[in-house]
Amino acid sequence: MTETIIRLTDLRSDARYTTHTPQIPAQIRAAAGHLEDALARRLHDLRISVTDRCNFRCVYCMPKDVFDKDYAFLPQSSLLSFEEIERAARLFVEHGVEKLRLTGGEPLLRKHIERLIEMLARLRTPSGKPVDITLTTNGSLLARRAQSLKDAGLTRVTVSLDSLDDTIFRQMNDVDFPVAKVLEGIAEAQHVGLGPVKVNMVVKRGTNDADIVPMARHFHGSGVILRFIEYMDVGTSNGWRMDEVLPSAEVIARVNDALAVEPLEANYPGETAQRWRYRDGGGEVGVISSVTRAFCGTCSRARLSTEGKLYLCLFASAGHDLRTLLRNGASDAQISTVIGDIWHGRTDRYSALRTAATGLPENAPPKVEMSYIGG
Ligand code: SAM
Ligand code: SF4
Ligand code: SF4
Repeated sequence: MTETIIRLTDLRSDARYTTHTPQIPAQIRAAAGHLEDALARRLHDLRISVTDRCNFRCVYCMPKDVFDKDYAFLPQSSLLSFEEIERAARLFVEHGVEKLRLTGGEPLLRKHIERLIEMLARLRTPSGKPVDITLTTNGSLLARRAQSLKDAGLTRVTVSLDSLDDTIFRQMNDVDFPVAKVLEGIAEAQHVGLGPVKVNMVVKRGTNDADIVPMARHFHGSGVILRFIEYMDVGTSNGWRMDEVLPSAEVIARVNDALAVEPLEANYPGETAQRWRYRDGGGEVGVISSVTRAFCGTCSRARLSTEGKLYLCLFASAGHDLRTLLRNGASDAQISTVIGDIWHGRTDRYSALRTAATGLPENAPPKVEMSYIGG
């Protein structure tokens, strides 16, 4: 009985349930292929979470004590269907989105995701270009799915891998998953042409920072772009502490001591990673410094949650419920106007406001979990 009461209390404070319900607009405004927010940041990327479930329990994302057998994952009926996702994505593309990233939870757990990729691959930007379609995965199912994903129209893949040390990797994914299977998935993705493959390593000081140089050496010269991500205070369940963040400057210094690097220009304004290249021609490496070097000033990303809420920031505490509009007969023009209005009003810049001393903005409301909103 006590257990049930605690769970109900948890649900009431669960950030997933905090929602803005957009009104059907009285006046329609056509998409112009270019949308700027209140801080003049252009909408460019849409990240779409296709499931809130995952077969890993990474300690920094879905810790087992919260995401246990009693955790209330979303029921199937709450998930956006592929048709709903495609419709929403099309409206975003009309507003200037050129890049779609499928994520989760673990996106390869969503049944028949290849069919969704085929649908999205048919979208065209207002100037007639195909849309860049990428996917972020833990790599556990990649070896056997890489070819079908490529055939469906996926452009590239990003694989998360936090260590090459099997013991540490098994501890970090917390489901005893072996590193060799993820490496097989990366090799297969490269083999079928889903490249350049990017590998994301979340660095937690004291947990896997000893793996920085071995990871850099392993992927040096392989064509894989390794990126080190600062451990972030996403969600409310991972018990984040500033002293577990290893600043990217230190990460790059350690890499540079082993393999000399020099900085590279960004590919485009708003790119999350700072890019470096090995001086000996061994390829590229990057850092994503969301904690120590906020990039809110150029943040061009919107996120669509598994159940169709639009989030304007990774650290948001409330989303805008587009699913109700998609399901209650609103027209494309009405939903498109709503999307435009929401983006126009965007002022989010959580990382820029994070205090240097404690790492956490004061009096911040509970944030939504990354497995729900999509990374
Ligand atoms: N399951 C897929 C995966 O792991 O690649 C996709 C979803 S996962 C939420 C997306 C990315 O978020 C992964 O690269 C993961 O390492 C990263 N991530 C999750 N929690 C994080 C945290 N607290 N700090 C930094 N990155 C985090
Ligand atoms: Fe799953 Fe990805 Fe989160 Fe790890 S980071 S628990 S693989 S969603
Ligand atoms: Fe974008 Fe929010 Fe991250 Fe800033 S904190 S870069 S606004 S997602």
